[in-house]
Amino acid sequence: MSGTIEKTTTAELAPGVHIPLLGLGTWPLTAEDAAAAVSQAITIGYRHIDTAENYRNESAVGQGILRSGIEREELFLTSKFNTQWHSRKGVREAFAKASKRLGTDYLDLFLVHWPNPAQGRFVQACEGLQQLVDDGSIRAWGVSNFKPAHLRLVKEAGLDVPVNQVQVDPEHGQPEQLAFHREHGIRTAAYSPLGRNGGFLGHPAVTGPARELGKTPAQIVLRWHVQHGHVATPKSANYERQRENLDVFSFVLTQGQLDAIDALETGAPPRLDSDTYFH
Ligand code: NDP
Repeated sequence: MSGTIEKTTTAELAPGVHIPLLGLGTWPLTAEDAAAAVSQAITIGYRHIDTAENYRNESAVGQGILRSGIEREELFLTSKFNTQWHSRKGVREAFAKASKRLGTDYLDLFLVHWPNPAQGRFVQACEGLQQLVDDGSIRAWGVSNFKPAHLRLVKEAGLDVPVNQVQVDPEHGQPEQLAFHREHGIRTAAYSPLGRNGGFLGHPAVTGPARELGKTPAQIVLRWHVQHGHVATPKSANYERQRENLDVFSFVLTQGQLDAIDALETGAPPRLDSDTYFH
C-alpha cells in the first residue's frame, strides 16, 4: 500500500463495515476530561472513537457520546479487553461489561488488547470475538499488539484477522510487521500515531511539507499515515488540535515527500514488548 493515495476516509474491515481512517484516541483521559473531549470531538466531526477497558474511561466515553446527541449508528466505536477474558465465554462477558459501561447495544470493533502469549489463550479470545460477530453483538473484531508469530497462530486456527492496532509512527515504521499485515490482508491501525508529540514533528522532512502546504507538522504526519492506508487515532482534548488532526483529507503528499518521511524510520522496536507486557 506504500505510496498509494487513499482517496476515501474509511477502510472496509469486513463486508459493509467501514472504519474511519481518523479517530480520536482517548487514553489517558478519564472522567469528565474524557467525556468532554469525546463530546467536543464528535461535534467537530469525529466519527470514530478508540477506548479500552484498561483506560478506565469507557463510562465517561459513553457519557460524551450521549452528550453529543449523535445517533449511535453514525459513530464507529472501538474498545479492547484485558487478558483475563481470554476464553470464548470470557470474551462474551467482557463484551457485556464493556457495552454496559459504554451505554451501547453493540460495538463496531472489539480488540484483544494484548496477546499475553505466556497465558496462551489469545486464539480462544479471537474465536470468542468471531462468535460475537456471528451473533451480531459486534460488527468486526481484531487484535492489538500482536506480532507476526501471534498472528500466525490465529491464522492456523482458521481465522483471518481483519485489523491489528500497533504502535506506528515515522520513526517506528515497523517494516517487517507491516509487510506481514500487507501479505495477509490485515489492516494496520496506528496507535501513538504522533509518537506522543514525537521529536520527528520538528524534522525538516515533516516541517518542509508543512510550510509548503500551509499545514501543521501533525497534519503532515497524519496524512502520511492515511496515504499508507493506516487507521490512526491521535489523542487530544484540545479543540484546535482535535480540529487539525481530523483535517487531513483535503491535501496530498507527493511520493518524494512520503519517501522522505519514510526515511525517518529508526528500526526501533515498539515501546512495549508484547511477548512480555500485557494487561
Ligand atoms: P499520540 O501519538 O496520539 O500523541 C498524543 C500526544 O500528542 C498528546 O500529548 C497530545 O497533546 C499531542 N498532540 C495531539 N495532537 C497534536 C497536534 N496536532 N500537534 C501537536 N501535538 C499533538 O499518542 P497516544 O499514545 O495517546 O496514542 C493515541 C491513542 O492510541 C491513545 O489515546 C489510545 O486510544 C491508543 N493507544 C492504544 C494502545 C494499544 O495498546 N492498543 C497503546 C497506546 C495508545 P494534547 O493532548 O495536549 O493535545
